[in-house]
Amino acid sequence: MNVDRYSDRDRARILIVGGVAGGASCAARARRLSEKAEIIVFERGPYVSFANCGLPYYVGDIITEEENLIVATPDLFRERFNIEVRTLSNVIAIDREQQEIEVEDLRTSVIYREKYDALVLAPGSTPIRPQLPGIDLPGIYSLRNIPDSRDIRSWITRSKAKRAVIVGGGFLGLEMAENLVRRRISVTIVEMQDHVMPSLDYEMVTPIHDHLDANGVSLHLEDAVTEFKQDDEHNLNVNTKSGKTFAGDMVILAIGVRPEATLARSAGLEIGERGGIRVDERMKTSDGHVWAVGDAVEVRDFISGEWIVLPLAGPANRQGRIAAGTILGRDFKFRGVQATSVCGVFGMTVASTGLTENTLIRLNKAGRNIDYEKVYLYPGHHVSYYPGSSQMAMKMIFSTKDGRVLGAQAFGREGVDKRIDVVSVAIQNNATVFDLEESELCYAPQYGAAKDPINVAGMIAANALRGDAPLARWEDIKNTNALILDVRNRPEYVSGHVDTAINIPLSQLRTRMHELPSEREIWTYCGVGQRSYYAARALALNQFNARNLSGGIHTYKNLARS
Ligand code: FAD
Repeated sequence: MNVDRYSDRDRARILIVGGVAGGASCAARARRLSEKAEIIVFERGPYVSFANCGLPYYVGDIITEEENLIVATPDLFRERFNIEVRTLSNVIAIDREQQEIEVEDLRTSVIYREKYDALVLAPGSTPIRPQLPGIDLPGIYSLRNIPDSRDIRSWITRSKAKRAVIVGGGFLGLEMAENLVRRRISVTIVEMQDHVMPSLDYEMVTPIHDHLDANGVSLHLEDAVTEFKQDDEHNLNVNTKSGKTFAGDMVILAIGVRPEATLARSAGLEIGERGGIRVDERMKTSDGHVWAVGDAVEVRDFISGEWIVLPLAGPANRQGRIAAGTILGRDFKFRGVQATSVCGVFGMTVASTGLTENTLIRLNKAGRNIDYEKVYLYPGHHVSYYPGSSQMAMKMIFSTKDGRVLGAQAFGREGVDKRIDVVSVAIQNNATVFDLEESELCYAPQYGAAKDPINVAGMIAANALRGDAPLARWEDIKNTNALILDVRNRPEYVSGHVDTAINIPLSQLRTRMHELPSEREIWTYCGVGQRSYYAARALALNQFNARNLSGGIHTYKNLARS
């Protein structure tokens, strides 16, 4: 039966492979759109609809009951939605010609076939497990599902683990570091890149390095694991390329995931350059009867238009809904992904959305010519006069062509997710920095400021684009002929400044302007960029050619560490 030509789509037989984020949301949505469709979910594991995102916190004993990780059970699917869920059912082949799947019942080893009108692949991703010597030694874990988390918990108890080596400093590596430290386990992270959270730009992440250090995590960057060895004292030694050995009682592999595309590949479905199942904006694969969603697929980046694999729960859930809709005759389209993400690190929050500067540099090297500018700011998460204000670091990137917002990253104790979410929605609506400048956001002293950090980011960028307050980049100070002017107070200047900078504190600037060359460009800086903005404006209004070094010496120091 052909779903496209199916006169009564409502009666479609929809089979779904994978019963967690993408698969479960597809199934439930399909039922909400059709009472007559037959919906069967096949899940290889023992559980459906569990909270993988909660697993690190279960290891860390924040979530204490395993059952709390289970969002919905097969019984609930049956009773509430009339959806059949078959757990421990591994889908091993797709016969596209016959529109059938082959399923192995893992309880009985019986293999059987099921017909479909529409097949949805939601098989997720597989943790990368490099084939290094010793990789299969006991005590080396990946974390993907409830049984994995149970195994890790039990290993911690059984081996009385006191030291863990985490390979990889991305989201999962950092979440696991926090949770293992919570279990009084000392943690070493080995990361191949020069910074943790490789999905963010370097200078936005350096404060996280300090924060990890302050929380007792030993961080080893630009190093790679070469082998795992067990010695006579039962140490699980992790040897690295640089010749170091880190002794642990356990190892967590957190070096990323790859799309689980085996089934799709062997069925001859189109696989993209990043290894994900290729889908169109309706989440349809290269076969008109097969849809795919979640970690397994390759979709378009909303801003750059590049193909991207983005293993995050939000896109998986939304894609599941869209697949259900299009199967059942609705004209829904997936907008693409922006890589909006957030991670907690020992009480701090790091979040980002859209393109990073790293990505822009890579795209431009590949010939894309995306002109962009960036602003750095360090606002309080709410007004400073209300107790408890904490500073956040924010970077926003925008197009110099039309002011379109391209991306933002932030790190801080409070209010970070709120700001990144606002920018995320702005990006999805093709908003510009002029829109952010004018955004009306909620304000009371304990929540924000009348000029919210979002407004301020928009204002700095809009001022630059209008030519009122042009920006200079710290990366360019080595090669500029501009005069570098530090407008901080004398003691601040004396405590550390850019080598080539002269100092005229902002409070003296108006009376000492005659000391400055009128023919030479002047780049101003201060602590975080605010006083130097005032200085640059005053200079511009007095016919000087001035630019503000965005983010002040604070940003310079973070950049200089790279
Ligand atoms: P999954 O949810 O992984 O589901 C795929 C299911 O398909 C699996 O249960 C698998 O057993 C089953 N399956 C695979 N092949 C077959 C087959 N052949 N037959 C039958 N069944 C099969 N994302 C965030 O956005 N925020 C977070 O904080 C976050 N934290 C995370 C923490 C951890 C520890 C992990 C592992 C992931 C986290 N993620 C997070 C990522 C998020 O969980 C995934 O992006 C999301 O679950 C992907 O949904 P999915 O449906 O594509 O795949």
